[in-house]
Amino acid sequence: MSDSRLRLALQKSGRLSEGAFDLLAKCGLTISRAKDNLYGRARELPIDVLLVRDDDIPGLVDDGVCDLGIVGENVFEEHRLSSAAAPNGPASAVMKLGFARCRLMLAAPKAWAGDDVAAYEGKRIATSYPALTKAFLDSVGVSASIAEMSGSVEIAPKLRIAEAICDIVSTGATLEAHGLKPTQTVFTSEAILVRRPGEFAPEQAAAFNSLMVRVNGVIASRDAKYVMLNAPRSAVDAIIELLPGADSPTILELAGRPDVVAIHAVCGEQVFWSTLEKLKALGATAILVAPIEKMMP
Ligand code: ATP
Ligand code: ZN
Repeated sequence: MSDSRLRLALQKSGRLSEGAFDLLAKCGLTISRAKDNLYGRARELPIDVLLVRDDDIPGLVDDGVCDLGIVGENVFEEHRLSSAAAPNGPASAVMKLGFARCRLMLAAPKAWAGDDVAAYEGKRIATSYPALTKAFLDSVGVSASIAEMSGSVEIAPKLRIAEAICDIVSTGATLEAHGLKPTQTVFTSEAILVRRPGEFAPEQAAAFNSLMVRVNGVIASRDAKYVMLNAPRSAVDAIIELLPGADSPTILELAGRPDVVAIHAVCGEQVFWSTLEKLKALGATAILVAPIEKMMP
């Protein structure tokens, strides 16, 4: 194993893969995949990609088999709570990546009255996340038994494996189809970048630093917009106040229009239609909202 390249573990296929590959592509990395589809290599930075099941990622990074990984916080935190201490210390979360957002939720048969967490007292709960579930139940003073299942948790009540479940929910349609209702959020998750314990070798550290600059740039530019508009001079302060996450906009004179200025600003947050309507109400005209492809502070 070369220690001059960084080894990055990604989910081979599933709900994290598309977001992870998309992020790498936006970072300017083209990954050529080996025929067996277990391994890939970035052309532009010394980064090798290992394609594995998401559940294996925290362990591979704890053990230093991989230097970095992209995994759901739910899987990472479940692993952290449930596994024995790694010899060199555990992997650590570097940053949130803003995709694969989901929630781990307690869900009960619709026939249960109300949504109170106390209803789970003494019940049996099926889940793939026993440690996260138990930590939540402990925090609210509810004691319940846990039936660990590796998948298809939502069928557990019908099969009488358990009375309720604790599972990943995004739209709630799966729960609905199984006669269940979500009641409490146990854990909120998104994809994160994790790194192994210990120092990186110099070439690895250099590759890691460039990757970090690029990932930060991609994330910062994801919601960012370049906003241009014309505004009556008298409304400039009120208009700048409305621009979300914009610091020090540029104010330009317009030729032959002493009462009107052009305002250009980078907005760090989403610009909604409702914001544009408010800008218009303050007298703004010729409003343009343009995407930003790359940003580097
Ligand atoms: P593998 O075969 O790699 O073990 P899996 O079936 O365990 O895959 P996926 O369903 O692909 O996993 O989910 C991977 C991760 O994506 C989850 O751990 C969670 O962080 C996130 N995730 C799960 N469900 C959703 C969802 N409905 N919407 C968004 N993100 C989700
Ligand atoms: Zn999995």
